[in-house]
Amino acid sequence: MEHVDVVIVGAGLSGIGAGYHLQTLCPDRSYVILEGRGAIGGTWDLFRYPGVRSDSDMYTLGYAFRPWGGAKAIADGPSILQYVRDTAAHYGIDRRIRFNHHVKTAAWSTDKAAWIVTATGAGGEDVEISCNFLFMCSGYYNYARGHAPDFPGSGDFAGRIVHPQFWPDDLDYAGKRVVVIGSGATAVTLVPAMAETAAQVTMLQRSPTYVVSRPAEDRAANWLKRHLPAKLAYRLVRWRNVLLGIWFFRLARRKPAKVKERLVGMVRDELGPDYDVATHFTPRYNPWDQRLCLVPDGDLFAAIREGKASVVTGTIDRFVREGIRLQSGEVLPADIIVTATGLELQLLSDVAFNVDGQPVDLAKTLNYKGMMFSDVPNLASTFGYTNASWTLKADLTALYVCRLLNTMRRRGMRQATPRIGDARIEEVPFLDFTSGYVRRAIDKFPRQGSRKPWRLNQNYALDVMALRFGSVDSSMEFSNPATNRRAA
Ligand SMILES: Cc1cc2nc3c(=O)[nH]c(=O)nc-3n(C[C@H](O)[C@H](O)[C@H](O)COP(=O)(O)OP(=O)(O)OC[C@H]3O[C@@H](n4cnc5c(N)ncnc54)[C@H](O)[C@@H]3O)c2cc1C
Repeated sequence: MEHVDVVIVGAGLSGIGAGYHLQTLCPDRSYVILEGRGAIGGTWDLFRYPGVRSDSDMYTLGYAFRPWGGAKAIADGPSILQYVRDTAAHYGIDRRIRFNHHVKTAAWSTDKAAWIVTATGAGGEDVEISCNFLFMCSGYYNYARGHAPDFPGSGDFAGRIVHPQFWPDDLDYAGKRVVVIGSGATAVTLVPAMAETAAQVTMLQRSPTYVVSRPAEDRAANWLKRHLPAKLAYRLVRWRNVLLGIWFFRLARRKPAKVKERLVGMVRDELGPDYDVATHFTPRYNPWDQRLCLVPDGDLFAAIREGKASVVTGTIDRFVREGIRLQSGEVLPADIIVTATGLELQLLSDVAFNVDGQPVDLAKTLNYKGMMFSDVPNLASTFGYTNASWTLKADLTALYVCRLLNTMRRRGMRQATPRIGDARIEEVPFLDFTSGYVRRAIDKFPRQGSRKPWRLNQNYALDVMALRFGSVDSSMEFSNPATNRRAA
């Protein structure tokens, strides 16, 4: 059986970043990337709906090691995909990828200090590969299906029903009446994009979300890029955005009423005094209890002002032949219905893990530093921030894994296992978001602990201290197969 030091699963933003860090910081380590699909890019290759874009700025969604060169800070999906592909090609990471290898199981043997990873190959055959360390960069949602509630009467609807995760190439919506169900990032992206050519686009939401407008182009950043070396400008803007994000998040948590008033007031400024902001843009929850929705240059508000798009807040009774009937009795006529109802969260791609033949239920483990799992050796995974760009945490996670691998090599230790060992640690939910997609899946997630190193920071500055400079020994047992000696 083929053996490598490290298997990375997934060739999205995180997997390509992990490959870079590994070959830069641990150049003596062999690695492969197993990718289930036939392409690089993950999310940015999969999602093809009109207007698909980032909803955080590219100075923090871009890699720390590769400045984002685009003029737009809120970038379109194809540009982000190109950036990931270019990064992979530039550093030769693309040569390490085995495409069409979908990982199903991973079995750890303490005797051998190795994982045996089984993937389904391109022809449906099982492919086995062994490795000392397994690094899951498989994202956080199910690629095979999105969240699709069962709407009664959907068979009666005469038009086409589309889920944004599987956008059909042949969908022609020019001159058509479209209803987009949802109020999240995807819905607020789709509505103005489709409104450009559709006859009418209605965003149908059960309840409102905080929607915040930000300039698509960051003028200060572009000025700095013209006047400073690219890397320095990138670093400065990145840190400015990180610190602003942390400041705003903390303000929202400390003074929710004030922040709510300000955010809703900004929408009122956009839509004018006659618009029913209270019904359509005033959420019942506090800012940052769920992710805020960003709209570049207020494009959603412009589409509403121009009468090309509208928002309806109500509950669906059923789909009918001509559209959607609400519980109020109102019927929204539609030729196309887009169910922007969200993702189905998935932890570590539902890979079946076992340690020495015993199945591992990750929901029963405690998450270590946001990346490893109590009592599971040599396994790490990337899970980005919920309140900041994913890549900020992905970069730090990969950096930390490299520190761990180098420590193991230096000490001649082949196993690194997080162990709890502190009775004062209390269990806390992994995420404290109230969003539906989090509530639906949280029981499948590990818990986090009430204290370091089991506590998730959700704060880049604190994580820089913990993951770049903090001790690799805290609650970590280093050992070898034969002796299981405790090293720390
Ligand atoms: C429409 C959309 C917009 C987003 N915008 C933002 C944003 O603006 N800012 C932000 O911070 N985040 C955003 N996100 C979250 C986004 O997913 C992350 O930012 C980032 O792209 C995740 O990268 P990743 O590599 O960790 O995961 P993914 O992009 O999901 O890539 C995972 C890869 O792993 C592969 N894989 C999965 N399971 C297996 C398996 N078992 N075997 C082999 N391969 C496997 C997949 O095929 C895929 O290629 C957005 C998400 C969506 C859906």
